[in-house]
Amino acid sequence: AKEKGRGNFQFYETYLTTRAKERLFLESELRDALERQEFHLHYQPQFALSGGELIGAEALLRWNHHEHGLIAPDKFIPIAEESGLIVAIGEWVLSAACSQAKAWLDAGYAFKQVAVNLSGAQIERSDILATVGNVLATTGLPPQHLELEITETYIMRQAKQNVRIMEELRALGVSLAIDDFGTGQSSLSYLKRLPVDKLKIDRSFVMDIPQDSNDMAITRAILALGHSLKLTVLAEGVETAEQAAFLNELKCDEVQGYYYSRPLDAESFRKLLAKQKFD
Ligand code: C2E
Ligand code: CA
Ligand code: CA
Ligand code: CA
Repeated sequence: AKEKGRGNFQFYETYLTTRAKERLFLESELRDALERQEFHLHYQPQFALSGGELIGAEALLRWNHHEHGLIAPDKFIPIAEESGLIVAIGEWVLSAACSQAKAWLDAGYAFKQVAVNLSGAQIERSDILATVGNVLATTGLPPQHLELEITETYIMRQAKQNVRIMEELRALGVSLAIDDFGTGQSSLSYLKRLPVDKLKIDRSFVMDIPQDSNDMAITRAILALGHSLKLTVLAEGVETAEQAAFLNELKCDEVQGYYYSRPLDAESFRKLLAKQKFD
């Protein structure tokens, strides 16, 4: 019986790929991460392109595992989404970002907003309207200082239903941005009706400016489209002076990227806010 057991185990071992084992491990560790307080947020500054003024920041989740150290969001967010853990984690992110933003406002720092990513799975599996409403009420953050980012791919998957949810969210007083724009095959007729304030041009298009003329044409088209719909357009992933100059020429409204700043820990972002205030 012992021999057989070991044989089964070996089969199991080879059957499960390294990837699958890593998934199982991360999922079980994710279950404890909230309780262990292993999450924190970084804040990537967003700037107005022409005047250079600091507008706010996108809150980005960081997981510092007690044994394995930092684990990238691209690795664990998909697992959190599939397992449903994204609901609790997403609520933590929202609440942490809003209470941090409120504390900065109370300390006298001026900024327009903090942006928080909402995952499609989180919207589907929870009462997102109640969650956002509760977090705003609990933290006391005035809703105009919160922006929610939803990916184009998710919005377009069930456009009709999502338009309603987005209208309700906006009725709370928060603003909405379409994340990773350009990758999700928006139907133009829906785009016109989407209750959004901002388009975020996906990093994949910005990345190869000025080498890739197709990406430059797409970026130009998104800016023209966004502006004709009276939306603010932000380019993400700006890494070089050439990219910034190209975007500036096209009257892109806002920028975010390593050229301006990497995501910062809360204290470093506070220092940036402080400079803004006293400059
Ligand atoms: P995203 O929403 O598109 O966030 C922007 C990502 O691009 C961030 O990666 C940021 O660090 C990175 N980035 C910003 N500027 C540059 C640049 O100039 N060059 C390059 N190469 N990268 C740049 P990060 O923090 O690793 O997050 C990756 C993704 O994980 C996010 O993509 C988002 O989809 C997801 N994510 C992060 N935090 C959250 C969260 O709180 N909730 C949810 N649902 N998803 C999150
Ligand atoms: Ca985002
Ligand atoms: Ca994005
Ligand atoms: Ca490209």
